[in-house]
Amino acid sequence: MNFIPLSVPNFSGNEKKYASDAVISEWVSTGGSLINGFEEKIAAYVGMPRAVACNSGSSGLHLAMLVAGIHAGHEVIAPALTFIAAVNPIRYANAQPVFIGCDDSLCIDPAAVRDFCQNNCHMQDGKLINNKTQKHVKAMTVVHVFGNMADMESLMDIAKEYHLVLIEDATEAIGTYYESGRYKGKMAGTIGDVGVYSFNGNKILTTGSGGMLVSNHADWAEHAKHLSTQAKSDELQFMHDEIGYNYRLNNVQAALGLAQLEQLEAFIAHKHKIYDQYKVALDGKNGLRILPFKDNIRSNKWFYSLYLDNFSMKRDELIAYLNTQKIQTRPVWALINEQKPYANNEAHHLQKAEQYREKIVNLPCSTNLSPEDAQRVIDTILSIG
Ligand SMILES: *Cc1c(COP(=O)(O)O)cnc(C)c1O
Repeated sequence: MNFIPLSVPNFSGNEKKYASDAVISEWVSTGGSLINGFEEKIAAYVGMPRAVACNSGSSGLHLAMLVAGIHAGHEVIAPALTFIAAVNPIRYANAQPVFIGCDDSLCIDPAAVRDFCQNNCHMQDGKLINNKTQKHVKAMTVVHVFGNMADMESLMDIAKEYHLVLIEDATEAIGTYYESGRYKGKMAGTIGDVGVYSFNGNKILTTGSGGMLVSNHADWAEHAKHLSTQAKSDELQFMHDEIGYNYRLNNVQAALGLAQLEQLEAFIAHKHKIYDQYKVALDGKNGLRILPFKDNIRSNKWFYSLYLDNFSMKRDELIAYLNTQKIQTRPVWALINEQKPYANNEAHHLQKAEQYREKIVNLPCSTNLSPEDAQRVIDTILSIG
């Protein structure tokens, strides 16, 4: 019986060729020409004038906070149900998160955000002020969870009304776009003020580690590039005009990224195929559901959520059992407001986030998962009864 992993890289295209070409050229660091090429190709794919390559999604999100002008004394609205790397950059910038729960898309709930802004804050000199802390709520981080799309129409309206910078954590959602509505044709990550993608090992497109930042403000993208390369203001004389970072992607990673991008649409088609297989076989059976993605989008369907509505096993019991059958699954993240570094932060409207945290198991979803292996996952789950 072979082991079926949750999500592994798929290097069946030109990855080995492009990466070894980069190694043979000895351009392996941040000076190589493939990095600019990868930036241009990602920018074209997501429909933005430029993209800024970073060595992780986390570093991209840190840069997003900095170029958005987030600093000590600010608060940032953030989702409670997400990976902690979406929230930590708020702290890197010395600001504090205020946590809000999710809606049925698993993304931040716009109605709950609006309720917080309306009833827990007031406007003063064009700034949203938190009544309890008297701090300036300057921004909102929105995560497109598992490749679903947060409700950007409502969230953009709220951002406009309350003068919030909108940061899109699109780390899980490259390739997700609106098929209809106000943002028809717009990709996740390109709607708010600044957006970030991740190319970590378990993401749909991977460079081992890596990320990309895009912005609707040309000067923010320029500033992010500057900060990512040690903020050097004079090439020859080693002059630096602010505190910079060593955050740029390297040439070997860019080589992998170029090969991965060639296959991204095929990866997404495969994610859809396996999703449909799980949905047909499991949705509505034995007290199980397969959570949907939104109707008005083309999602990349990065992660699949099995929802234990009324199933005979609890989440951790099921995960442990599948593990004995050599099938790797996982729970959704523990809420960030319950984590030690954030235990004292404000958190609102957590009911759905708590419920989804308790009842979701993520199923194997690699882009090279065979229909036969997906069937084994299905049969194993159904055999529990
Ligand atoms: C993966 C991920 C990140 C961080 O990206 P890295 O490239 O791993 O640093 C941030 N936010 C979310 C929601 C993620 O899933």
